[in-house]
Amino acid sequence: MTRCLDCGALRTAGQCSQCGLTSPAAELMFRRRLLTRTAIFLAGSLLLPYVSQIYPPLDLDLMLVFFGLLFFVALGLAILLDRRARKHLEIEAIKRVYWAMVPLPLILAAGLFANGRFDSPRNISYHPTTVDSRYYMKGIIRGSRRLIVISWRPGQHVERLAVDSDDFARFHDGDAIVVGTEPGALGIPWYYGVYRR
Ligand SMILES: [Zn+2]
Repeated sequence: MTRCLDCGALRTAGQCSQCGLTSPAAELMFRRRLLTRTAIFLAGSLLLPYVSQIYPPLDLDLMLVFFGLLFFVALGLAILLDRRARKHLEIEAIKRVYWAMVPLPLILAAGLFANGRFDSPRNISYHPTTVDSRYYMKGIIRGSRRLIVISWRPGQHVERLAVDSDDFARFHDGDAIVVGTEPGALGIPWYYGVYRR
């Protein structure tokens, strides 16, 4: 073993010259840190679906695909780190990548919240359109309800609106509707509401 598991300093003796921890102590410290940061990562990952229901971005599904990938890569790294630390193998590079990923769900959730919260209702624009179909997927937390409508954006066929259960029950295929959207304080367009025409 060449590096201290906890602080990453090069280690020549049984005790780390940087942090003073012995090899088993450094493993314990690292394991604790891994657990705490993984808890932070999971908390952010639970928060994100909630925030995305309050101010749902128009491109939510695309974001969720991206986030799903990030989620599984991060968890994979956490498992890998745990295994490698147990065997006292080199972990510095993986550790740095994982530490950098830990705050991402929280940053994403905070970004989506600020994007909707600091947008002005004066910015709402209304788009007349038609319901194409509806989509419901059961989920662990709340499930996903989508109203799929003909898009008003150039180069886009449909919009998949993340509606709540009331709006999901209220509208049916072929209904003439008006969709209210806002540009987003951070430039992420989000869906404000849906109304009958
Ligand atoms: Zn150390």
